[in-house]
Amino acid sequence: MAFTNELLENTDYTKQIYLVGGAVRDKLLGIPIKDRDYVAVGFSENDFKHLHKVGKSFPVFLQKDGSQIALARREKKIRHGYNGFSIEIQQVSLYEDLKRRDLTINAIAFDEATQTYHDPFNGIQDLENKTLRHISEAFCEDPLRVLRIARFRARLGGEWKIHPSTKVLIYKMRDELHFLESNRVYKEVEGALLEQNSHLFFESLFELGVLDVIFPSIYALTTLKEGNLHHLEASVFAHTMEVLKLVESKNIKSDKHRLILKFASLYHDIAKPYCYRNFGNSKGHDNLKIVTPLLDIALPNAIKTPMLLLIQNHIKIYLLSKMRPAKCVAFFESYKKDSTLLELQITLLLADKQGSISFEAQQKFSDSNFFAVRTMLLNAFKALLAYSPKEWIAQNTPSPSAIKAHILKEKIRILKGILYF
Ligand code: ATP
Ligand code: MG
Repeated sequence: MAFTNELLENTDYTKQIYLVGGAVRDKLLGIPIKDRDYVAVGFSENDFKHLHKVGKSFPVFLQKDGSQIALARREKKIRHGYNGFSIEIQQVSLYEDLKRRDLTINAIAFDEATQTYHDPFNGIQDLENKTLRHISEAFCEDPLRVLRIARFRARLGGEWKIHPSTKVLIYKMRDELHFLESNRVYKEVEGALLEQNSHLFFESLFELGVLDVIFPSIYALTTLKEGNLHHLEASVFAHTMEVLKLVESKNIKSDKHRLILKFASLYHDIAKPYCYRNFGNSKGHDNLKIVTPLLDIALPNAIKTPMLLLIQNHIKIYLLSKMRPAKCVAFFESYKKDSTLLELQITLLLADKQGSISFEAQQKFSDSNFFAVRTMLLNAFKALLAYSPKEWIAQNTPSPSAIKAHILKEKIRILKGILYF
């Protein structure tokens, strides 16, 4: 295997295809490769006309094995926003294509034919030193790169450092962050929340001094310390980060459910600053009328609707034993037929309790001690779902209001037979 970091001849346009970007980075790190991107130097669009073209603003082609080939390109910033670049594809060398990329570790090319790495910006050294470093001042031209850096830390771990010169540059980009399109922000946050250390995404943005620009409501959590019987943590932000870490350890299999749970963890206490400011305590922080306007980013409804239900119920589930029976029935019915959502609710409750420093007995909320409570709640849910008044209605032909009263009475009876608190 050969390595070269001498500046490649800027005017070398010899026809050649290289593996680039995340695939080379992850190959060198020894972690699974997600997608394979190739760059084609010295080629024209015509050379790939047999392939399906996928790129809109620049030529990218899909290969049969799922990998993508892009023509080498040069970018120049001409106005704000994602599409504010002018793109050139004539006479672009490998060096120029690598130079337009964000981080040194993402700007290594690999020639599969000769098994040679081309590394003009010392990305391999930065990989070894676990350093995230920008390539050039042009890094400022796309504010999404700030979120990408934070996401890479969430993936790679806290031992990875952002180079001091990159930190300075990022702080200068604060105002540019306002120009990020909401769908691009959502995609990055989604990616970050699916990483092992998703809390590092938000902690990195906080350390970089830019959390408040994109996530003002989450930023507000950093300056609120509750200091009551239930919450002795340094701040609501510190607690929220702890909950994010804990739900990650609960091994939720489907990405959609992990996302719902992670977003619910992130936003479960988002209304606390508002409630303390207006009411002097945290009461009402589960009220969706207060919560919803505080969501910093636009979420797809498939995530937002179940997430809001988890937030709305995150205190109720804790208070079930003190709730009136009819309210208990309504609590279970709020999950419609979705027992997985109730399971996520229970997981959130556990993480919320385990992620607090409080005067309550901690062993009460250990995973194993809580197993029986989890089973009881799921059994109650299933029993309510299985109940049908059809037979009783057929026998008694009652009025609509009598049916309603009967169903409620029966459901309360079912719950009383299962809930033992
Ligand atoms: P992931 O593993 O999450 O896919 P990635 O680095 O491969 O990470 P991609 O979006 O697949 O990210 O992009 C492939 C490559 O394109 C990157 O490695 C980087 O070289 C370049 N790139 C992507 N987005 C940007 C950007 N916003 N600015 C500069 N270069 C970028
Ligand atoms: Mg990639």
